[in-house]
Amino acid sequence: MQLEIIPCLNDNYSYLIKDDQTSTVAIIDPSEFDPCDKKINQKYKKLDFILNTHHHFDHVGGNAELKKKYGSKILGFEQDKKRIPEIDVQLKDGQEFKVGNLNFKVIYIPGHTLGHIAFYLEKEKIVFTGDTLFSLGCGRIFEGTYQQMFNSLNKIKNLPGETKIYCGHEYTKNNLGFCLKFNPNNNHLRDKEKLIDAKIKTGKPTIPSTIKDEIQTNIFLRYDDLDVKDALNLKNASDLEIFTKLRDLKDNF
Ligand code: ZN
Ligand code: FE
Repeated sequence: MQLEIIPCLNDNYSYLIKDDQTSTVAIIDPSEFDPCDKKINQKYKKLDFILNTHHHFDHVGGNAELKKKYGSKILGFEQDKKRIPEIDVQLKDGQEFKVGNLNFKVIYIPGHTLGHIAFYLEKEKIVFTGDTLFSLGCGRIFEGTYQQMFNSLNKIKNLPGETKIYCGHEYTKNNLGFCLKFNPNNNHLRDKEKLIDAKIKTGKPTIPSTIKDEIQTNIFLRYDDLDVKDALNLKNASDLEIFTKLRDLKDNF
């Protein structure tokens, strides 16, 4: 398969993928028409499917115009059928579907919104996490509960370590600052900092990372790290309490 990262708006990423065996093309979370259309034109001149992780405008903004131009089918979560513009196919949690010969699985991960899903390619070891898991961070909790977001992040955390993570935004550098503040003795973060700075310096995305990488560095997956608990002065708190505190602190970081 081929995968292109398309920078959109200020800091969004849309992802264009092609199944080589069948020449089937899909886009994940087209934020806006112009940059997506430009890339489609350069590469494939067709778009069979549009996949949406959630209903926010910066993930569905290109839906209508792309569908109109390319006759694409739009796939989104069934509970968000009223909020995903021009949806054609309503997906359920755990459902599998094909983009050519690529087998996608829907993972329901509420918290950022109540209808948020991830798209998982098990064989290719890739997951598209939208605004739920970012590199070194996680999304704000707009619609769900802390418990829901915590469970959703743990679902992603339990995927195989080598799985590549493609998320909805380039927030990595800011997230790194937050991780370093409350997990100062994590040496993996220092290594990661060098990699991130090198990429940003040359104008490259810091995406993808991997599950293994995130478990080592992403503070929102490290609620059981004693260094983190110490930094928060919450030595005896539960995992969920630590996560909740971190999410609240990050909202004002
Ligand atoms: Zn969002
Ligand atoms: Fe977003």
